[in-house]
Amino acid sequence: MQGEPEVAVLRLGHRPGRDGRMTTHVGLTARALGADRVLLTSSTQAKETIEDITGRFGGPFSAELTDSPKATIRDWPGVVVHLTMYGERVQDVEEEIREAHGTDPVLVVVGAEKVPFDVYEAADWNVGVTNQPHSEVAGLAVFLDRLFEGRELDREWADADQRVVPMATGKRVESADDE
Ligand code: SAM
Repeated sequence: MQGEPEVAVLRLGHRPGRDGRMTTHVGLTARALGADRVLLTSSTQAKETIEDITGRFGGPFSAELTDSPKATIRDWPGVVVHLTMYGERVQDVEEEIREAHGTDPVLVVVGAEKVPFDVYEAADWNVGVTNQPHSEVAGLAVFLDRLFEGRELDREWADADQRVVPMATGKRVESADDE
């Protein structure tokens, strides 16, 4: 988030035809819950969808393609957090990670299929959001909320063409052209 060291999300792996929606949802969840950018290992369709949402609902947020995710992890100029059901419990390590984020950019790595073991070794923390199998989208959402301690829920969006007006019942979206 603005004024804080960067938080980027790296989505490892992408099985065409199978992971399309999940890869898009990793990017949209990263955006909505306070990350600054997402790095995707292949899906141009997901990148376009995430950019379209950012164009309409605001940013700053960017989606980028990388063909060298291992180099991204190796050369990351901060700390690397790999989300995995086999990792340390998020509630046990979140404070250390928050402290690191006070000064250092954080790369959050999520998988799709089996994640190679060298990613576990390269990470500064392997973190489980529960030690139960579930989804990269759910793991990412809980992790980011813990990292930011809920501050991301109040973030402001710049250059939004559309803004949802929260209401108890019904749906209202204001357009920048209406103002
Ligand atoms: N079996 C795969 C493996 O061994 O890496 C996991 C596949 S899982 C469907 C896809 C991704 O969801 C994982 O790579 C991980 O990033 C995330 N994930 C699933 N369960 C998780 C948990 N309990 N905590 C954190 N991340 C989780």
